[in-house]
Amino acid sequence: MGIYEELGVPRIINAMGTYTIYGGSKMSSQTLQDMEDAASSFIDLNLLQKQAGEAIAGLTHNEAAYVCNGAAAGVYLGLLAAVAAHRGKKIRYLTRQDFQESEILVFRSHRSPYDIVMEQLGVSITELAYSNHSLPCPKEDMDAAISHRTAAIYYLESGWVAPGAPSLTETIDTAKRHRLPIIMDAAAMLPPTANLWNYTKAGVDLVVFSGGKDLKGPQASGLIVGRKTLIDLLLESAFPKHGYGRFLKVGKEEIIGLYSAIKQYLTLDQEAQIQNAEDQVKLACQMLNTHPGYHALRSYPNEAGQPIPRVLINLLDQTTDAKTILQYLSHCTPPIIASPAGHHSLYLNPMTLTQKEMVWICKQLLQYRPPTT
Ligand SMILES: *Cc1c(COP(=O)(O)O)cnc(C)c1O
Repeated sequence: MGIYEELGVPRIINAMGTYTIYGGSKMSSQTLQDMEDAASSFIDLNLLQKQAGEAIAGLTHNEAAYVCNGAAAGVYLGLLAAVAAHRGKKIRYLTRQDFQESEILVFRSHRSPYDIVMEQLGVSITELAYSNHSLPCPKEDMDAAISHRTAAIYYLESGWVAPGAPSLTETIDTAKRHRLPIIMDAAAMLPPTANLWNYTKAGVDLVVFSGGKDLKGPQASGLIVGRKTLIDLLLESAFPKHGYGRFLKVGKEEIIGLYSAIKQYLTLDQEAQIQNAEDQVKLACQMLNTHPGYHALRSYPNEAGQPIPRVLINLLDQTTDAKTILQYLSHCTPPIIASPAGHHSLYLNPMTLTQKEMVWICKQLLQYRPPTT
C-alpha cells in the first residue's frame, strides 16, 4: 500500500494539465534525489537563498532571482518589493500607511483570483481599461491613471486573459516613461523556456513563475526573476528574514529542488517534448475517430497559451454531453480528469500524460456506452 492509499486519496490520471489543485506536475528522479540530499544536512538558509538566487539568475540570463513558495506568493513579494522601492524604504520599515498610500495599476482584464495578494498587502488598486473589445485603452489613459502614489503596474500574462488590456510593449513604454516597475504574473508561461528571460529582456522588472507547473520543481515553489535592486530588497527582508515575507516559508528542499529542476529544464529537449505531445494527439485522434460518437481533432495552443497541442473531442451524439462523459471518466479506476470545452466537447491535454495513459483514456472512451433508458 502506498502513502496516498494509506490516506484514502486515489491517484488520478491527469488529462487537464499542470493544475496546482491536482498536484501541478511530477518531479524528475534527479530533482527528488537532489531534494533528498538537501534534506539530509543543516545549512545556512540565508546563504542558500542568496547562492541559489545567483545561480538561477546566471542560468536564466537575469540580473537576479529569488526562490519563493509559489507564483501567488511571488506576486505578493514582487509587489512588496515595488512598494518598498517606491517609498524609498527597506521592506521591514514599511508601515500600514505606506501600503495604503501606494497604488498598483492593474488592467481590468488582468483581474484574477490570484490577485487577492494586493488586498493582503493593503495597497490601493487602480483599475484601468475594460475587459472586452468595447473601448481600447490608449497611452494617455495609462498616463492619466498614474500618479505620485503609483508604486507598480501589475501585468498578468496567461492564455486565459480576456481582451482589453494594452499590449505589453505599450505598457513597458509607459512604465519606463514614468519610471515605474512592472511586476508580471507569468506563472504558467513555460514553455517556451526562453520566457525565463524574454520578458525581463523586453523591460519587465520582475517576472514570476510557478515552480510546480511545467518547470517540474517542488509543488510549493515559485521563481521571481528580474531587477537586482528589487530582489535585493527581498533578500534583505523576505524569508528567512523576519518581516512581511517571513510567513511565506520556503524550505531548503524546495530551494534546491527548484534549482535542480531549472537546470534540467534548460537542457530539456523541448522539441522532443512537443513532438511527444503531437504524437499523443495524433494517436488519440486515430483511436477516437473509429467511434461514431466522437470527432477528435488537434487543438492548439492549450488553455494556458502554452505552445502544446491538445485533443479536442466533439461529441456527435447530441444526447450525450461533456458533463456526462467527464463524470464517466472520473468514475474509472484510476479516475481520469479532463476539461470540458463546451457543452458537447472536451479536451485531453497530453502535457501531464504518458503515451500509455493517453491510450488508456482513449480505450475508456471507446468503451463508453450511454445509459439505456
Ligand atoms: C497557476 C497560477 C498561479 C499560481 O501559481 P502557484 O505556484 O500555485 O502559486 C498564479 N497565476 C497564474 C496566472 C497561474 O496560472
